[in-house]
Amino acid sequence: MFTPEQVQRAREDTPGCREVIHFNNAGAALMPRPVIEATIGHLELESRIGGYEAADAAAEQIEGTYAAIARLIGAAPDEIAVVENATRAWDMAFYSIPFRPGDRILTSMAEYASNVISFLQMARRVGVRVEVVPNDEHGQLSVAALRELIDDRVRVIAVSHIPTNGGLIQPVEEIGQVARAAGALFLVDACQSVGQVPIDVRAMGCDLLSATSRKYLRGPRGVGFLYVRRELIEQLEPAFLDLHAARWVAPDRYEIRGDARRFETWEANIAGKLGMGVAANYAMAMGVEAGSARLRALAEMLRERIRAIPGGQVHDLGVNRGGIVSFTVDGVDPDAIKRRLAAERINVTTSTVFSTRYDMTARGLERVVRASVHYYNTEAEIDRLVEIVGAMARNA
Ligand SMILES: *Cc1c(COP(=O)(O)O)cnc(C)c1O
Repeated sequence: MFTPEQVQRAREDTPGCREVIHFNNAGAALMPRPVIEATIGHLELESRIGGYEAADAAAEQIEGTYAAIARLIGAAPDEIAVVENATRAWDMAFYSIPFRPGDRILTSMAEYASNVISFLQMARRVGVRVEVVPNDEHGQLSVAALRELIDDRVRVIAVSHIPTNGGLIQPVEEIGQVARAAGALFLVDACQSVGQVPIDVRAMGCDLLSATSRKYLRGPRGVGFLYVRRELIEQLEPAFLDLHAARWVAPDRYEIRGDARRFETWEANIAGKLGMGVAANYAMAMGVEAGSARLRALAEMLRERIRAIPGGQVHDLGVNRGGIVSFTVDGVDPDAIKRRLAAERINVTTSTVFSTRYDMTARGLERVVRASVHYYNTEAEIDRLVEIVGAMARNA
């Protein structure tokens, strides 16, 4: 947990904290000053000396991004690819898996829309079977049910560590153990969890993990990364290759790189890449564990306060909950809550069935307010949000 002085320092480091009350950290968190400076600084360098020349000048810091991301998640730098966003990272992993007809994909109730759309595309294209592992009584993926579903046709277990619209944190370490015992690939969508909770890919036992820069990691937009376990890299041929991922060594032959950068393209947002590296180092300097404890405590406080509002309903599942709070207020349109809060410079968003259809239809939910808390938020900010939502509930 942070001391009050650390919270104060985090807020002073974050210019956005003076402009808005930001509860849209699961959308894009506020960048701290070192990230802003590294990102804008590189754009300025590009404008002064040329884009390629600026990349040469920053070569060491660019490598530093791989090292920082690797350290943040317990990987090695050659297991990291930096790409445009979490979706592309996940896609590069998923579409490199050589699926055969009849292969099974096991996923969770809370899976993210883009991932499921890819499963469905693969089902149509190749004839794989997509199966959803039921939840346990806490609303998280049932590891017991997963064990029962396992057979040698399970090619991949693909799970969102923290779903896009709720407090649920999936039991990824236990899922990883099942995957390893079964010889299935374990693909983790860590888009919401990197920067929100400590991540250790070895402890998780995952083969592939995707994430983005702009969410809980507090980096710039338009950049993300993929982790690929070293032993797997040379077994997975990316669906797309370019002259960075591979080398054209003879008129009819190419050779693919041996590290995870085979999943990258040559052209990249260098300023964003640098910013993401600084964000990773910043997260580690702040202390991921301590920041996580604070943001989770704040989120629990917000949940309690929402439940105390007449008609207030919290929709977060799981045993250990994270920083994303999803709620509704009886008789009040979630979008009206978002608009009313926006008028007070309080940022939240709404999340619909189109993001997590399996989960939301099973629970009869159409749309929820998503208020995602970071460690730089304060109790006073929560008070302000609850005051406004409470007034809307009383007038409903
Ligand atoms: C936001 C999100 C994504 C997509 O990340 P992008 O960086 O927007 O591609 C994937 N999975 C989950 C769970 C998310 O919340």
